[in-house]
Amino acid sequence: NEHANHSVVIVGYGGMGSYHAKLIKDNGRLKVTGTYDIDGQRAAASEKDGYPAYSSYEAVLRDPAVETILIATPNDVHKDLAVQAFAAGKHVICEKPVTMSVEDFKEMTAAAERADRVLMVHQNRRWDEDFLIIKQMYEQKTVGDLFRIESRVHGANGIPGDWRHLEAYGGGMLLDWGVHLLDQLVFMVDSKITSVTGRLSFILGDEVDDGFEAVLQFENGLSALVEVGTTNFIPLPRWYVKGTEGTGVIEDWSMTGRIVTRNREAEHVEPKPIQAGVGLTKTMAPPSESATLTGVLPEPFRQPSSFYDNYVSVLEGTAEPLVKNDQVLRVLNLIEAVFRSGRTGETVKDFDLY
Ligand code: NAD
Repeated sequence: NEHANHSVVIVGYGGMGSYHAKLIKDNGRLKVTGTYDIDGQRAAASEKDGYPAYSSYEAVLRDPAVETILIATPNDVHKDLAVQAFAAGKHVICEKPVTMSVEDFKEMTAAAERADRVLMVHQNRRWDEDFLIIKQMYEQKTVGDLFRIESRVHGANGIPGDWRHLEAYGGGMLLDWGVHLLDQLVFMVDSKITSVTGRLSFILGDEVDDGFEAVLQFENGLSALVEVGTTNFIPLPRWYVKGTEGTGVIEDWSMTGRIVTRNREAEHVEPKPIQAGVGLTKTMAPPSESATLTGVLPEPFRQPSSFYDNYVSVLEGTAEPLVKNDQVLRVLNLIEAVFRSGRTGETVKDFDLY
């Protein structure tokens, strides 16, 4: 590809590092010119895939042909690798969670600013179709003004892999999946967060959370529930949202879902009482057939460009980053608030309003 002229070296050629190599090849504006991994087997896998393996990180830093370092190691070493990269004059794409604390991220962005280099965090789930459908519904008011958003991912396989079980590596589900779901929410909702309540799950006996719930209250009246579970043999829907005119649901990654709205045209018909359990209820009876309309999910909101295209444009000075470091900082602050609330049992008040 004639445009593939920006050299990238992938550091950490594991699950995600090798996936980046495939995505970058498909994208074509960046070119993976090598990798570095501390595990010899992963270095060998890289060579087999056609990407030369550097023998040390120093060798990557010393190579003047390397423009960008893409960090896809476990979370504990992101900061040190990035700070060294900036000192060597390299730009950085870093996997999420960018760091394990707000303090570390501030150190990282300060190093990037000192060196006048780009730091862009791979918050790739801002491009997920399910999320972009909800973002469209939020902006276009497909079911009216949203006042409740429930965003969940549920699995039944426990915490995967090795380092994700350990605190020292930045394991646990709040840092792993929580960072995606909170990032999506904060990217979508343009309102201050007034309070944050967190509950962490330790059902599996790991030293890190195997799931969590976070409730966020926004100044504009919206409340959001973000939930990650790894002990859910029956998953709840990926998205459940309520608006002033209706309700929407997206069940799963294949975009099964629907919206049900109030039928403004219909004459009001009192719902008929139904037998519910041992009692009778009108409140919980289904609305009369004419009272609602069932529709399909809207087309997703369109991001202006892909993650990698945007990154290249930022490098070339022709675009602003779609993933901004102040957004990333706010999400890290949120994660710390959820941890704090989870530990103390108290709600963190006035989150954004200090
Ligand atoms: P992994 O264990 O599969 O791969 C990590 C690799 O890094 C391993 O090969 C390991 O040997 C190597 N490594 C460890 N320390 C290193 C060091 N100091 N220098 C060089 N290499 C080193 O883990 P993974 O699932 O690929 O996760 C890696 C990162 O990617 C994590 O930050 C994770 O959160 C992130 N991730 C992001 C997504 C996403 O969708 N954005 C998906 C999965 C993982």
